[in-house]
Amino acid sequence: MKEFAKVSLGVFPTPVHKLENISRMLGTQVYVKRDDMTGIGLGGNKVRKLEYLLAEAKAQGAQVVFTTGGAQSNHAMLTAAAANRLGMKPILILKKRGVTGRLGNQLLEYLMGTDVRFMDTNDYADIYAEMDRVGKEMGVPYYKIPCGGSNALGTLGYVDCVRELRDQGMTFDHIICAEGSGGTMAGLALGAKLYMPGARVTGMMVDTDPFDEITPRLMREAAALLEADVDVSSADFDLRDLCGPRYAIPSKEGNDAVRLMAQQEGLFLDPVYTGKAFAGLVAMAKEGVFGADDRVLFVHSGGAGGLFAMDMD
Ligand SMILES: *Cc1c(COP(=O)(O)O)cnc(C)c1O
Repeated sequence: MKEFAKVSLGVFPTPVHKLENISRMLGTQVYVKRDDMTGIGLGGNKVRKLEYLLAEAKAQGAQVVFTTGGAQSNHAMLTAAAANRLGMKPILILKKRGVTGRLGNQLLEYLMGTDVRFMDTNDYADIYAEMDRVGKEMGVPYYKIPCGGSNALGTLGYVDCVRELRDQGMTFDHIICAEGSGGTMAGLALGAKLYMPGARVTGMMVDTDPFDEITPRLMREAAALLEADVDVSSADFDLRDLCGPRYAIPSKEGNDAVRLMAQQEGLFLDPVYTGKAFAGLVAMAKEGVFGADDRVLFVHSGGAGGLFAMDMD
């Protein structure tokens, strides 16, 4: 398969370990992939994507890197941290949605001296147009990263994650992750096809985008980049709706899962992504989807920055 250039940003492989107390409670074998420990910022899933995306930015001679997301975007914060380290100037043009005060990821961006701008729009198209306007006005080479880093190139980061698991000598019957912009889930699902065919990948949707279309599209585009000879279909993965009231608005199940993980395992999930996703894993266990000997992997995709901006009840 084709290889793409990466910059080194994180510390890999990330650890995998068993959640003993939760395994006992749920009657199955639950493990966690610690992608909350990817080694820059506060860790998180976007680091694997950024290793590919920022390599492309560097190769193109970019001096400025734009990205976007909500006010508390973990992806935007990690992009700023990574771009700074690589000597490129990050400019974040964020949707004026969520907590815009100096809390959570906004505090971290402030500490990094990041150029953060807000746009009062619901449409990312307006934001990408603004990136082009600002970039052209600056008159320097610039690179645009889409929301969540979820394009085909970014998706390769999570194809690699499954290869990494295989190289760690591990195999799983189920792989579970949060799905927010789609790249993580699509990468894991394609990676499982290539490197761990026995694993069933389930994406826990925390937003209302059409992930039944987004997931296979990103899988196909990533497979095309790799020149991998695979047929992708919607039978390759499962999706579950864990969005609750709305994207980035905590749900009761999600908050319960945050508490469960904190109290039983001393690990912190977040109410926007990983708490809702873990609530989906708990629901599957309660429905009897997992056998007592099944090995179930939860990909902890980070989110600590956002946790400190949320008012949790
Ligand atoms: C972005 C994010 C996700 C979702 O990943 P996508 O690739 O955007 O679907 C999950 N967890 C955390 C903590 C994130 O920041």
